[in-house]
Amino acid sequence: MYENEDTIVFYDGVFCRIAEIRINPFTQSLHYGNSIFDGMRSYATEEGAQIFKATEHYQRFAKTASQMGLNLPYTPEELSQISKQLLTLNKLEDAYVRPLLFSAPNMSLNMTSESHLMIVPFKWGLLLGNSLVNLKTSAYRRPHPDTPLHDAKVGGLYVTAVMASSAARAENYHDALQLDVEGNVACASGANLFYEKDEVLYTPKIGHIVQGITRAVVIEMAQKMGVEVVEKTITPEELDGVDGMFLAGTATEIAGVATLDRKSFKMQWEDTIGFVISRQYRQLVTLVDNVRGTLI
Ligand code: PMP
Repeated sequence: MYENEDTIVFYDGVFCRIAEIRINPFTQSLHYGNSIFDGMRSYATEEGAQIFKATEHYQRFAKTASQMGLNLPYTPEELSQISKQLLTLNKLEDAYVRPLLFSAPNMSLNMTSESHLMIVPFKWGLLLGNSLVNLKTSAYRRPHPDTPLHDAKVGGLYVTAVMASSAARAENYHDALQLDVEGNVACASGANLFYEKDEVLYTPKIGHIVQGITRAVVIEMAQKMGVEVVEKTITPEELDGVDGMFLAGTATEIAGVATLDRKSFKMQWEDTIGFVISRQYRQLVTLVDNVRGTLI
């Protein structure tokens, strides 16, 4: 269970218990998927619970809200403060925070700007668990870049991610590797992908992917370590025989990939740059100065 009867959520301007929330069955987003969301993690630090990159997450959320045409009556800073209060009210430190903005009741396909905002905090382990992951290349591709908001966190656009992830799990993989419409490597169902070859990191360039905040942190960390990061078009064939691979995302953190389509990589995970980055990421998210953005 994600919640209990005491869980406090933020809904339409007030802190309340989950049982007090009423969602109208005619909510447009429930029918047509035009909700938007984001997800961030809070970590226990010496200065209490700190949400990693809260402002960046809420800036992305606000940008998507405005592109979608949904009214969001708070600034990213206010949303960060509300989220911190929510964590305190729920006595949570290591937690995940999910803001969701959805439209008002409206059965037509005409967009309404009237919206409802819900922010829910909950305890959530790593999305793909704590061990190395096995990926399967999925038949379900990322949306065409002409699809509106194709690279944003929009409810309806995650149908493919749910289908891809579930199909991979049904065959005992941990997650799917999705290709873009051109057949190039894009991402996992809910995380960005990096591979390592000859001490250089490669990751799909932006255009078909969600521009992950963790991805940006990884690039910055690697560059600070003196490791070159190349953002480019990556063909599936290119992944054959690489040294290592990892996924990066808020819910996943940094997850080493053991195999892709049952094939392993040249190096042991523990010997890769990805492994070093995974360790450093863990330290980074629990250091208050880093959370405030002074060190990275
Ligand atoms: N790609 C997809 C498809 C995602 O859903 C996510 C998770 N939000 C990411 C990448 C990683 O984004 P972030 O690092 O901002 O969590």
